[in-house]
Amino acid sequence: MNPRQNFVGGQPVAGTGPLFASIDPATGQRNGEFTSASAADVDAAVRIAAEAAGQTAWRTMRPHERARILSRIADGMAACAEDLAATQMQENGKVIAECRAQVASAIATYRYYAAVCETTESELTPPRGDYLSMTVHEPIGVVAAITPWNSPLTMEAQKVAPALAAGNAVVLKPSEVTPTAALDIAAIAVAAGLPPGLLNVLTGTGVDTGAALVTHPSVGMVSFTGGTETGRAIARLCADRLIPSALELGGKSPNIVFADADLDAAVDGVAGGIFEGSGQSCVAGSRLFVQRAIYDPFLDKLRARAEALRVGLPAQAGTTMGPLASFPHRERVERFVQSARDEGGAIVSGGRRPDDDALAAGAFYLPTIIAGLNNAATVCRQEIFGPVLCVLPFDDEDDVIAQANDSVYGLACGVWTGDYRKAWRVARAVLAGTVWINTYKQLSIAAPFGGFKHSGLGREKGIQGMRLYQQSKSIYFGLADATGVA
Ligand code: NDP
Repeated sequence: MNPRQNFVGGQPVAGTGPLFASIDPATGQRNGEFTSASAADVDAAVRIAAEAAGQTAWRTMRPHERARILSRIADGMAACAEDLAATQMQENGKVIAECRAQVASAIATYRYYAAVCETTESELTPPRGDYLSMTVHEPIGVVAAITPWNSPLTMEAQKVAPALAAGNAVVLKPSEVTPTAALDIAAIAVAAGLPPGLLNVLTGTGVDTGAALVTHPSVGMVSFTGGTETGRAIARLCADRLIPSALELGGKSPNIVFADADLDAAVDGVAGGIFEGSGQSCVAGSRLFVQRAIYDPFLDKLRARAEALRVGLPAQAGTTMGPLASFPHRERVERFVQSARDEGGAIVSGGRRPDDDALAAGAFYLPTIIAGLNNAATVCRQEIFGPVLCVLPFDDEDDVIAQANDSVYGLACGVWTGDYRKAWRVARAVLAGTVWINTYKQLSIAAPFGGFKHSGLGREKGIQGMRLYQQSKSIYFGLADATGVA
């Protein structure tokens, strides 16, 4: 099979950088080869995007017309939903049910931003003199979007749909682990009527393709989701060029179980919060704080729950946890678990690859629970991005708030309690962009999402998720008689 090409100016275009392969992490088999974009290819794509963004046909297209195109993109994705889900599953190993749910979420994101685009209004601002003043919101131009491998379908939709709705052109660089969904969706978008050049996809590595994109002089903004160190490097480059960056970064989210919680619901929420998607989620509840009075019985229940999860091939019915997304990533997770052992941690469950011969060729790892460490341990401080849960006891509200906030991250937090006043107090005291009370990992496209501290800068989703990709302009109409200027 010929290598899959980039998508630029409405058509496949071969990249002139090195070829790379996508590997199915469940089997170790190659999915296919891809051409990567060199710096020259990035330059060509950004020029095409800049031209498309600069055309008044797009910049000034009436919002309801732009919205119609976004809705048609959603229709096109819905028509290929099963293929999109299977593609993501083959590239990152997520179980098929989760991949299907993520396709549905991506489609809903396009529909949501079609509605936002069509219904958000400019503002008349209160006059302080003899004039009428209004604020309008204009596109930035070319938005560079850079995404990770754990949930390409949803994360790319969260950037591309609002950026297009806002009137920009996009150049998207997906992770080289999961390049296909972005290429497929760009082709769907053009078939749905998106003018060529407005959505371009360049595949390749971060250090080559990604860096060339971030530093291109015609890129007006970078929207990035990925690790904190990469985000910091991108933010520095953007600062040099005085362009905005939106950063969705890592997390080490606390999940807090008080003694007065519904413990069965909490066990489900805690297990789902860390083991769903094999823990490869920015909001994974990877630090579990359990009130001391219920620590032992809760840990017993949780161990039973973790051991009941079915680790298996992601396409198989009944599988609840697929492999990790790549073999190098599994090795990284294994190094973290070894560090927990070295620092005196007790492996309560898992801590190894499964024995099942049918899974031997894939990057599988068992759901793992570690106890006996404190919040200063490496596994409690660094993001593992795998199915590894660290369990820590706490005494009271003040103690758990202090421990939960003792992290450089601040992406999300779970609170399990029967006392709504306590839930409110903890939710307000925890430094995190999202707090879930008696639930976990509920996400709505209508609610702003992003991180405190080193978990990010800016908020995606919601109405402001479209404003993120616009710049405001204030326009004054003088109403005074004669010259109009006092
Ligand atoms: P990385 O930061 O390694 O990579 C993210 C993307 O950035 C990839 O496309 C990567 O390319 C690219 N990239 C890497 N280096 C550069 C560079 N110097 N310039 C431009 N682009 C670059 O993260 P991972 O892919 O490993 O994803 C996991 C991380 O993502 C975790 O830390 C996780 O918490 C975070 N994440 C955050 C979310 C949030 O919303 N807050 C959501 C999901 C994940 P390539 O890998 O192809 O080389």
